[in-house]
Amino acid sequence: MTDPFARLTDLSEHMTLEPAEDAECPKLSPRQQKALNISDAQMPNGKRITLLKTLLTSTCERNCYYCPFRAGRDFRRATLQPGEMASAFMSLYRAGIVQGMFLSSGIAGGSLRTQDQLLATAEILRQKHGFRGYLHLKLMPGAEHAQVERAMQLSDRVSLNLEAPNTQRLERLAPLKIFLNELVQPLRWVEEIRRSQPAQKGWNGRWPSMTTQFVVGAVGESDLELLSTTEALHRQMRLGRAYFSAFHPITDTPFEGLPAASPRRELHLYQASFLLRDYGFTVEELPFDPGGNLPARIDPKLAWAEQNLSESPLEINQVNRRDLLRIPGVGPRSADAILRARRIGRLSTLDDLRRIGVNPAKAKDYILLNGKRPVRQLAFW
Ligand code: SF4
Repeated sequence: MTDPFARLTDLSEHMTLEPAEDAECPKLSPRQQKALNISDAQMPNGKRITLLKTLLTSTCERNCYYCPFRAGRDFRRATLQPGEMASAFMSLYRAGIVQGMFLSSGIAGGSLRTQDQLLATAEILRQKHGFRGYLHLKLMPGAEHAQVERAMQLSDRVSLNLEAPNTQRLERLAPLKIFLNELVQPLRWVEEIRRSQPAQKGWNGRWPSMTTQFVVGAVGESDLELLSTTEALHRQMRLGRAYFSAFHPITDTPFEGLPAASPRRELHLYQASFLLRDYGFTVEELPFDPGGNLPARIDPKLAWAEQNLSESPLEINQVNRRDLLRIPGVGPRSADAILRARRIGRLSTLDDLRRIGVNPAKAKDYILLNGKRPVRQLAFW
């Protein structure tokens, strides 16, 4: 049997397909980073840490059509036992190479056994090694209620990938997964537990946040389908974030001949999901084309503003926070800064806006400053 670090390198190889908390890695050489798949990750509170993203095993008995780990695909598989994984991680942690872990797994011996192995790893980390850093634990499809609850007691974030926005699309992506019973139900339990049980049961006095991920562009799903499901998850289950992973064909899978999905589409889905989560938009308001897709050429907020604000610009000195958030170039922080500034005086120029964090180049075509369009104001000057 190869040493644990060699197996850890094998296990981490394809984890770039899981964009959990991704930013970039500043500390390691690209080679080291690539080998162990250590990424610079952004935490829910905005803090950045180095995160090891890995699997307990790359063996899997399921056959999801897009996945490099699917059953029957010919490649070198690796497995670490819970104690081996915990020790290997703690060596990296003590050496200052990583600060947290995102731990997932292929399904081997059934979902319940696999979930137990993930829980055992987390228990060894927290209880034997006293690890108090960031831990993101994957929930397996079909995990039981007690397993979900235990994962929540040990981790800072839990996630379960829906992969598709509904039953029909999932059947074409991952025929052995059951959308409502196996994937949605554990996410529902996470929210039920967070609502019904005291947060002190979480390992650091807080319940973990929850995320999910969709594979984008392999089976013809529309942006409307993806964002409708995302909106429901935000509203009904307080989803922390939806991740969108543009489909990329993997050799020796049933989807190897399909074209890769556009990274631009992935970007616009992220932007639209933030409009739903942080900007007060509803999915009905988003600027879909007749096929249910967002415009490819510009970001969704700009597309909405072109349709709705070009002829009816908003007066920066009067409109409420909800309307401020509709203006391109204004985010939640700059909307609050505008409201604070208005208590002191009027905002009269694009420079006034720039100083408090607004992007004037994006905003200028959709606002009035003291009743005048800023472009005309500038021309006048
Ligand atoms: S269950 Fe997970 S690891 Fe297994 S084939 Fe499906 S996506 Fe891949």
